[in-house]
Amino acid sequence: MAMMYVYKFGNGKADGDGTMGTLLGGKGANLAEMSGLGVPVPPGFTISTEACTHYSSHGRKYPKLLQSQIDKAMSHVEKIMGRKFGSRTKPLLVSVRSGARKSMPGMMDTVLNIGLTEETLPGLIDESGDERFAYDSYRRLIMMYADVVMEKAAGIERPEGQGIREQLERILEEKKQERGVTEDTALSAQDLQELTQTFKVRILKTLGKKFPDDAAKQLSGGVGAVFSSWNGRRAVEYRRIEKIPDDWGTACNVQAMVFGNLGDDCSTGVAFTRNPATGANIFYGEYLVNAQGEDVVAGIRTPSPINNDSKNQANRRMKTLEARYPAVYKQLNNIRLRLEKHYKDMQDIEFTIERGKLWMLQTRVGKRTGPAAVRMAVEMVDSRSIDRTTALLRIRPEQLDELLHPTLDPVEEKTARVIARGLPAGPGGASGEIVLTADRAAELAQAGKHIILVRNETSPEDVHGMHVAEGILTAKGGMTSHAALVARGWGKCCIVGCASLDINLESNSVTAGGVVYHEGDWFTLNGTKGNVYDKNIGLVTPNLDKDKHYKKLMKWADQTRRLKVRANAETPEDAAIARRFGAEGIGLCRTEHMFFDPERIRAMRELILAKEDETRRHAVMKLLPYQRKDFEGLLKVMEGLPVTIRLLDPPLHEFMPHGGDQVAEIAREMGMTEAEVRSRLSQLHEFNPMLGHRGCRLGVTYPMVTEMQARAIFQATASLVKKGKKVLPEIMIPLVSTQQEFLHQEAIIRSVAKTVQKETGVRFKYLVGTMIELPRAAIRAGSIAEHAEFLSFGTNDLTQTTLGFSRDDIGSFLPEYLQKKIYQNDPFQSIDELGVGELVQMGVERGRSTQPGLKIGICGEHGGDPDSVDFFHRTGLDYVSCSPFRVPIARFAAAQAAIRSEQSALTTKPKRIAKKKQVRKIKR
Ligand code: PEP
Ligand code: MG
Repeated sequence: MAMMYVYKFGNGKADGDGTMGTLLGGKGANLAEMSGLGVPVPPGFTISTEACTHYSSHGRKYPKLLQSQIDKAMSHVEKIMGRKFGSRTKPLLVSVRSGARKSMPGMMDTVLNIGLTEETLPGLIDESGDERFAYDSYRRLIMMYADVVMEKAAGIERPEGQGIREQLERILEEKKQERGVTEDTALSAQDLQELTQTFKVRILKTLGKKFPDDAAKQLSGGVGAVFSSWNGRRAVEYRRIEKIPDDWGTACNVQAMVFGNLGDDCSTGVAFTRNPATGANIFYGEYLVNAQGEDVVAGIRTPSPINNDSKNQANRRMKTLEARYPAVYKQLNNIRLRLEKHYKDMQDIEFTIERGKLWMLQTRVGKRTGPAAVRMAVEMVDSRSIDRTTALLRIRPEQLDELLHPTLDPVEEKTARVIARGLPAGPGGASGEIVLTADRAAELAQAGKHIILVRNETSPEDVHGMHVAEGILTAKGGMTSHAALVARGWGKCCIVGCASLDINLESNSVTAGGVVYHEGDWFTLNGTKGNVYDKNIGLVTPNLDKDKHYKKLMKWADQTRRLKVRANAETPEDAAIARRFGAEGIGLCRTEHMFFDPERIRAMRELILAKEDETRRHAVMKLLPYQRKDFEGLLKVMEGLPVTIRLLDPPLHEFMPHGGDQVAEIAREMGMTEAEVRSRLSQLHEFNPMLGHRGCRLGVTYPMVTEMQARAIFQATASLVKKGKKVLPEIMIPLVSTQQEFLHQEAIIRSVAKTVQKETGVRFKYLVGTMIELPRAAIRAGSIAEHAEFLSFGTNDLTQTTLGFSRDDIGSFLPEYLQKKIYQNDPFQSIDELGVGELVQMGVERGRSTQPGLKIGICGEHGGDPDSVDFFHRTGLDYVSCSPFRVPIARFAAAQAAIRSEQSALTTKPKRIAKKKQVRKIKR
């Protein structure tokens, strides 16, 4: 059978359906599905992603069969609409839109009114009886076509302000000034006709090509632009950030135009079936009277609310759609309920009302904030629309970050002056230095600055700057503008439509309330209220204890997961936060983090500079009371839960000064000559400190350090046990690679334990285990496990030593590695499953082959990365340990991992059976 590239929809029927997203893209599949549901959708057809893939891999040539299939589909549309594409009398106009599997900024969006030419214009004028409307549609087509098809999709990049669209917009502005009007709608048909001519001249001059005044050429140009935009720079960049594969390709949707700009009985709008910011089950949206869809998203005019629930600061006095057209609103609300019931998820819909008739242009799963995602999922389970498993899989673990996000310190905020107000598009708080272009934002963020990106409006060209910014602030745009949608998707703090800002790119300044601010000045955003402040306001952590939806969801997650989640923390304060976030123990207390106090550093330096063991012991024992107090605090906060304390790990030179002045000071303090100090410093110098005198190697050469730390831990334990507390210390030896290293350190620890038990008369339980963070340790895990009572993978060092990438210097080449796709992810962030992961697997298998049921965890940074958590679940670890703020994310990711494992076990079973059957068949 001939390959099918074109899928028709309309009139309550469709060739495709909602399950065909891979082939038809999200938009196309949904249009087909809606059409099949009997929702009023303008007829059209979708050109499949396979045609795009063919186009990309055949030097921008369409498949042979495509044109005839398009022609056939077009006559189908013509029949339904009673018009003809390219006809002088009853012209059919179409829109052309891209539609990948996943909605993707950076791709060609939409060209409307394709099919309108000098030849077909009179037909449209006749039919609509509105010459002004016809010319307005024509000038929109010319603008959009020149911008997206002739410039962007052709890969032409111009400096900001000089793009063809901006040039044409300036011509439009000049025309309005010439006529003394401020609104586009005040221009006459004659004005618009003149504009179309001026536009064409400018296009030819700027782009060196004529605007194609031919319906068929416009269509094929539009389709080609959609396909080429898949490989546009911004789209490629977005795919890299969002990890979307390059070979998906995009579909292209061609659909009959319906008009929201034929007069006051016409409108166009965007709505969500629930509030995308809060998750409340209310219909939420905006519309514009006498406008086309692009006007809502572009944020040129402030849209009106569709109902009272959608009112905000900026639109509260405007007439709602419900009040303006009650019958249409009722129909729209019914469709909203039907679509949500059908898709069982919140939908983002686009609609147009043409002369009182409602048309649905699009439905797709709506982007939402983290808090909204949680609330919707929980409420949909409560109303039995979805089950718990679906709810748990529907939320991306990172979305929980937003519930954990800082908000502005209310006390500081109260006294701060609001310099501008906008729409609250992305919740939470953010502060940073203002920057006015995306490139500059990327540059300064790279230099470690906190950035607030301030723009008139954002476009797909800005995504790289938006991604690195703490917060985004735009002068224009509504709740459905580009900035709002992208920020919401990323869970970023964002304020849009802040009309009182005057942004001047030439002087690199922003004026608000009569004050001029320059790049580098601090702004703070309250993305929940829409307030902008001109100072750096402190941020506070939200109170999750009061969030009933979050609590319910996390309860389900905890009931589902098998992996335990611990936290990496050293201070009682951090440990308390971790416990509040649901940590089930401390998986890593890095004791070196307890040594930054000046008194302690001095004692460490004495130890380092001492020439004999006795003086060394004397110096290190000065640290004992400090450490005892540290451990007592930590063990107390974590009462009843295990606390893994790792012995000192970093090389000693980290405790020594580097500057000349400090050497003199230390020499004075220690009663040594400067030359002596310097000579010791040069002895300590290492070319590869990460592979040097650190970890258990310190404990082997300076056993008094291990002795002091073990004593401090056991004395703290004894003291708490005496007070009736249940404490569970686990002492962890770092960086071992041989059983002998472990045994050496273990002997010291157990001997100290005995002594302390004798001295205090208190018996207590403890474990001695080790980190597995060197390839040799993973390989020899079987032998190490003959003695170790637990293992914890240190995947930071294990990644460093397996890949031979310095964890401190990878920044100099990793970006290129990612860009060139040599690595898909930063291996220090997301575990390298095939390499480092294999060592983890080997360590687990070998460790447990010696000691069945051995407790094994992981405490590298990967413990808080959802993809890595999934891997650790599959590998059979007992727990992951991560920073306190990642604990809820890890708990949630662990639940998803458990569900996925179970689902894949179910789906792989039949395959196994099939294989067996096959074998039997062959044997017979
Ligand atoms: C590790 O190496 O993974 C680890 C947890 O230890 P650190 O990061 O302190 O070296
Ligand atoms: Mg380590």
